[in-house]
Amino acid sequence: MSKTTILFTAHRPEAVMERGEGMYLWDTEGHEYLDFIGGWAVNSLGHCPAAIQQALAEQSAKLVCASPGFYNKPMLEFAEQLTALSCFDRVFFGSTGAEANESAIKLARKYGAIHRNGAYEIITALGGFHGRTLATMSATGKPQWEPLFAPKIPGFVHVPFNDIDAMRQAVSERTCAIMLEPVQGEGGVNVADPAYVAALRELCDEQGILLIFDEIQTGLGRTGKLFAYEHYGVEPDIMTLGKGIGGGFPLSAMLAKEQYNLFEAGEQGGTYTGQPLAMAVGKAVVSEIVSRDLSSHADRMGGYLKEKLQAWQERFGICRIRGLGLLIAFDLPTPSGKAMAEACMKHGLLINSPSPTVIRIIPPLIVTQEDIDRMLVVLEQVFQQSKQGQAL
Ligand SMILES: *Cc1c(COP(=O)(O)O)cnc(C)c1O
Repeated sequence: MSKTTILFTAHRPEAVMERGEGMYLWDTEGHEYLDFIGGWAVNSLGHCPAAIQQALAEQSAKLVCASPGFYNKPMLEFAEQLTALSCFDRVFFGSTGAEANESAIKLARKYGAIHRNGAYEIITALGGFHGRTLATMSATGKPQWEPLFAPKIPGFVHVPFNDIDAMRQAVSERTCAIMLEPVQGEGGVNVADPAYVAALRELCDEQGILLIFDEIQTGLGRTGKLFAYEHYGVEPDIMTLGKGIGGGFPLSAMLAKEQYNLFEAGEQGGTYTGQPLAMAVGKAVVSEIVSRDLSSHADRMGGYLKEKLQAWQERFGICRIRGLGLLIAFDLPTPSGKAMAEACMKHGLLINSPSPTVIRIIPPLIVTQEDIDRMLVVLEQVFQQSKQGQAL
C-alpha cells in the first residue's frame, strides 16, 4: 500500500493498523501491540467495545442524520445525561476537541460583548494545548507555534502555569475569560495545584470573568474522577470534552451553566452538531464509564502503576512520577523518549513520549493490573538495554 497519497502532517511508523480488540491492536503484518496510548486518551473502553458496536448498529438502522436543524432523540438523551452527571445545564455538541474549544472561545467573547463592554481577551497557560484550528492554536501557549500561520487570531494572552500572580497581573478590562487544562496533557502531564485553582475561581468571581476548563483529555474518568474539576472542589463556568467521550468515535462537547446560554440563532452551529450516531455512541460510552465506575478503577490502576514506577527511580534514574488516575508521566534521565517509544513498539508495546525527556502513560480505562504488569516487563527490558548502552 502506497503512503504517498496521504498529505504529510506527521512522522508515522511504517506499520498499518488493521484491527483492535480491548487493550490490543494488530497491524496488516499481523504484529500485535499492547496499547498504552489508546488513541491518545481516546479509546476509553478499549478497542471495538461491544457497547460502541451495539450503539452504532442500533442507531444506524434508525436514523443516521436528520440535519442539525432538528432535535433528535439520542441528542436530547445524551445532553440530559451529561448535565445530570456534571455541574452544567447546557450542552453544545461537536466532532473534535478543537471545535468544542472554538465554541467555548466564541461563547466567552459573546459574554464579554454582552456583560463586559466588549472584552474579548482570553488568558491561557504556557505549556497548555487547546487544538489545531487557527483560534485554538492561537490559544495554545506553545512557543514553537508562535511563528506559524501568521497572522494568528488576536486576543490570547499566555502566562506561566500554576502562577497565580502572573494570572492576576494579566487580567485587565479586556479580559473575558481564563481557559486552562486542570492537568496539562500534551504539555507533559502538569497537574494544577489545588490552591492555584481555588485562587483562579476567586479571581474570576471577583473580576466577573469566566473560568473555562479544557477537559478534553482529563474528562470522563481519566483522572480518577468523572471530571477533573471534582478534584478541586470548584466549578468552572464552561467545560469542554472530547477524546474519551466518544471512545474513538469523533465527538466533543462544550458544557455551560444556564446563565451562559447566550448565543443568538445562527451564531454557533455545525452540520454534525448532535449527529445521531455520535450521540448514541457517546451515550453508550458514558453509560459504561459510569455503570462500571471506571473512574475509581482508573484511580486504582494509576495508583498501582505509580507505585511500581517509584521503585524504578534509583534503578533507571527516572523522576517526577506524576499525574492523576490514568494520566501519568515521568521524566527520563536523558532525552531518549522517542528512541524508547520506538524500542517499545518493536517489542509490541505502544507508549507515548510527548517531549524528548517525558514518557506519558494514557491507556484505555479498562486496563487491568495484568496489562500493567505486561507493559512493565517490556518497559523494563527497554530500560535495561538503554542502561547497558545497547542501541534501542
Ligand atoms: C487533544 C486535545 C485537544 C484537541 O482535540 P482534537 O480532537 O484533536 O481537536 C484540545 N485540548 C486538549 C486538552 C487536548 O488534549
